[in-house]
Amino acid sequence: MAHSTKITLVLGDITEQHVDAIVNAANSSLLGGGGVDGAIHRRGGPEILAECRALRAGHYGGGLPTGHAVATTAGRLPARWVVHTVGPVWSRDEDRSELLASCYHESLRVADELGARTVAFPAISTGAYGWPIGDAARIAVEAVRGAETAVEEVRFVLFDESAYEAFAQQIS
Ligand code: ADP
Repeated sequence: MAHSTKITLVLGDITEQHVDAIVNAANSSLLGGGGVDGAIHRRGGPEILAECRALRAGHYGGGLPTGHAVATTAGRLPARWVVHTVGPVWSRDEDRSELLASCYHESLRVADELGARTVAFPAISTGAYGWPIGDAARIAVEAVRGAETAVEEVRFVLFDESAYEAFAQQIS
């Protein structure tokens, strides 16, 4: 089947994107954090955290494993769902690229299950988790290009110019 997912880039804040699903660079606790995670819970309101707590009380008692993804409501965000995924912490000694690619694949798989057609991703693992932006952009774009998905638009939302440039280089 021909792959027809359109990749777009935006310099901006992921919590302002009008899309079906916003992907959160969560941590395995699912109970909030800094960066994208903090912004999503702050702007999305308490409903998101309530669903995350319910997930922790149920299937994800041990937390969400790295490279996996799970959906909740998007609360007050201009989206229908938040897809939470846990990126790997960057390591100099160990190649964790497969786990980072898995975040994109699994998030798109969850998006397909939901019926989402437009999905916004942040540059997963490039903040607190320390992944070099150029390498993270390459892995992200390759993962999306390699995915079998019914998602029509994948929008990478980059928070600063250098991240935007790194992604622009990968899709040119
Ligand atoms: P991680 O823990 O996976 O590294 P972070 O949330 O710390 O996740 O950072 C991931 C990337 O998202 C970083 O490049 C950071 O600059 C960027 N970022 C932070 N806040 C936002 C936001 N509101 N919208 C889009 N990107 C953001």
